[in-house]
Parts: sequence; C-alpha cells; structure tokens
Amino acid sequence: MAEDPYTACAEQLALTPGLVRQLLVDHAPTEDGWCQGHHGHHERHPCSIRRLAEMARAHATANGRLRTPA
Ligand SMILES: [Zn+2]
Repeated sequence: MAEDPYTACAEQLALTPGLVRQLLVDHAPTEDGWCQGHHGHHERHPCSIRRLAEMARAHATANGRLRTPA
C-alpha cells in the first residue's frame, strides 16, 4: 500500500471499477470548463475527485489482469 494517502485511496478505489466509472461520469466537464458533479458551488474541471478517479482508473488499468472483480 502506498504511503501517500491520496495514492492509497486511489488504489483502494481501483478495486471498485463501477464506482470509478460513475465518478468519472458524474465529474465530467461542462462546456464552460467547470465540473458538473457539484451542487451549490462551482469547481474547476478537473476537480480533486475527478483527479482521484483518474488515478484510480490508471491503477485499475495497470492491475486489470490481477484484480478481476468477482
Ligand atoms: Zn467534481
């Protein structure tokens, strides 16, 4: 497990590919360059959650053959 909590969280998230995909969909950019996954306030795309989900996707891709979901 990575020592950096951000990376560790991405690795954990990578074990749940469905959730990663959902986060990537929810935190897609708007035409104006904002993240659409936030209600009540604006965040620039990519927001921190989007970046974390992209890290998780990279981990899931790298480990895809080893971590096939049941
Ligand atoms: Zn977002």
